[in-house]
Amino acid sequence: MSSDSKMMARDYHKALAPFFGSDEIGSWVNGAMMPGRGDMFDLIDPATGKAFLTLKDAGADVVDAAMQAASAGQKVWWGMTAAERGRIMWRIGQQVRDHLDQLALLETVTAGKPIRDTKVEVLKVAEMFEYYAGWADKLHGDVIPVPTSHLNYTRPEPYGVVTQITPWNAPIFTAGWQLAPALCTGNAAVLKPSEMTPLTSLALGVLSKKAGLPDGVITVLTGLGATTGVAATTHDVTRKVVFVGSPRTGAIIAAQAAQNIVPCVLELGGKSANIVFGDADLKRAVLGAQAAIFSGAGQSCVAGSRLLVQRNVMDRFLDMLVDGANRIPVGDPMDSATQIGPINNDAQYQTVRRLVAAGQKEGAELLAGGVRPEGCEEGYFLRPTVLGNVRNDMAIAREEIFGPVVSVIPFDDEAEAVAIANDSKFGLAGAVWTQSVDRAHRVAANVRAGTFWINSYKTINVMSPFGGFGASGYGRSSGKEGLMEYMQPKSVWTETAANPPAAFGYAPE
Ligand code: ADP
Repeated sequence: MSSDSKMMARDYHKALAPFFGSDEIGSWVNGAMMPGRGDMFDLIDPATGKAFLTLKDAGADVVDAAMQAASAGQKVWWGMTAAERGRIMWRIGQQVRDHLDQLALLETVTAGKPIRDTKVEVLKVAEMFEYYAGWADKLHGDVIPVPTSHLNYTRPEPYGVVTQITPWNAPIFTAGWQLAPALCTGNAAVLKPSEMTPLTSLALGVLSKKAGLPDGVITVLTGLGATTGVAATTHDVTRKVVFVGSPRTGAIIAAQAAQNIVPCVLELGGKSANIVFGDADLKRAVLGAQAAIFSGAGQSCVAGSRLLVQRNVMDRFLDMLVDGANRIPVGDPMDSATQIGPINNDAQYQTVRRLVAAGQKEGAELLAGGVRPEGCEEGYFLRPTVLGNVRNDMAIAREEIFGPVVSVIPFDDEAEAVAIANDSKFGLAGAVWTQSVDRAHRVAANVRAGTFWINSYKTINVMSPFGGFGASGYGRSSGKEGLMEYMQPKSVWTETAANPPAAFGYAPE
C-alpha cells in the first residue's frame, strides 16, 4: 500500500521573504534588483497547479544593461588577486550553508522538489563554491620548451562574460554547478534560469553580494527563453554560452551562439541504460533502480529510464521493483517523508502521461503506477510507474520521458545488453549491476556514456567531470575539466636571445 501524503498549507511569503523582502522581484543586475520591462508571466506551484506569483519578463533592454554591468564587473573581478577571488567564493559557499534551510524551503515551495532532496542539493551548491574556491589560486599556465630562443608560456584567461541558460528540474543545483567554475576562472556569469523556477537562482545572486562579490560578476535574468534568453545568448558581450536542458533547445541555442562565433557547452538529456545482470545483488539493484528513475520524480538528465534486466531474473526482479514502486511515498514536497513530489509543470506532466499511454498502446505492460496518488487531486503528481515488456524500439525506450516512469527491457547476455544500451542517440549515463569484476569493467568500457556507475547509480560530485556523448551534448561541467571550459589559453612568446637571427626582411643600416 502506498502512503501518499495530504497537502500542507503553503506560505509563499515566508519562503520568499528572507531573500527578497518586499522588493519587486526582477532580474539581479549590477548587485541590485532591476524590474523587468517585458510581458507578465506567472509562477505556478507544481503541487497545487495554481499561480502564486507574477513576474515580468526582463526583455532586451534589461539584458543589455545587464551585459554592460557584467562586462564592467568582470574587469574588476579579473583585476583582483586569485587568492582574493577564492576567499570571496568560499564566503559565497558559507552564505549558502548559513541559508541552507531557507534556500531549501524556497526551492521546495516554488519548484515542488521534496524537502529531503532540496536540503541535499543546496548543501551541494555550498560544496561547489568551496571546491572551486580552492582552485582559484591554483590555475596557471605552462612554460613550453620551444626549439627557438623564446621563452614561451601560456596564461589561462577567462572568456569574459559567459551566458548560462538553465532548466527547471534542479534549479539551484544547476545554477551553482555553472556559476562556481565560471567565477573561479575570472569570468562574469549571466545566468538565465528557467522562467518556471528563477527564485533560488536570484537568491544566490543576493547571497553573493553579502559574501562580498563585486557587482556585475553574477547576473540573474528573470525571463522567457524566446525573448530574454535569445537576447542574452546573442548579445555581443557574451563570449561563451553554457546550456543545460533538452537537445531540441540546445541545438537552437548553439545555432544562435554560432552567429557570433561563440562556443557552447551543451549539457542535454539522456535515456540511460541501467543494466542488471542475474549475478547481481538483486536487493541492492532494486533499490538502485528505484533511486535511478524515481528520485526527483524522474526529472533528472541522468535518470536510469531504461532498465535492462537479464531474463533469468526478470520475474523475481520485477516483483521486488513493483513492490518498492507501490510503497514509495508520493505527495506534498513539504513533507519530509515524501520521496516523490510533483512533476514540475503542466506541459511536462502531459508529456509524461502521453508517453505512458503511448507505451501501453505499443504493447508495454503497466505494472505499477500510471495514476495520480491518493490525496493529490491537484498539481502534477504521478505515482512511480513501471512499464514491463518494453522493446528498445518503442517510443518509451527512445524518448526522454523526464518523469517517474521506467521502461523495463529484457536481455539474455552481455553482448545484447551492451548493444541495447548503445542503441540510443543519447549517451549521458549508465550503470551495471553485477558481482563479476571483469564484466563490470568491460561493460563500463563498452557503453557509450559520459558517466557510468558500477553497482551504484546517480552519484555525481563537483569534483568529477560530467557531460554527454552523442545527443547528450558536448563539453564538460564540474571537476578540472569543467574549469577548462571557462578558460582560454593565451600563448606568450618572449625573445631571449641577445642578437636574435633575422628570419625575414632587411636589417636597417
Ligand atoms: P528544455 O526543452 O530544454 O527543457 P526549455 O524550453 O524548458 O527547454 O528551456 C530551458 C531553458 O532554455 C530555459 O531557461 C528557457 O527559458 C531557455 N530557452 C528556451 N529557448 C531559448 C532560446 N531560443 N534561447 C535562449 N534560451 C532559451
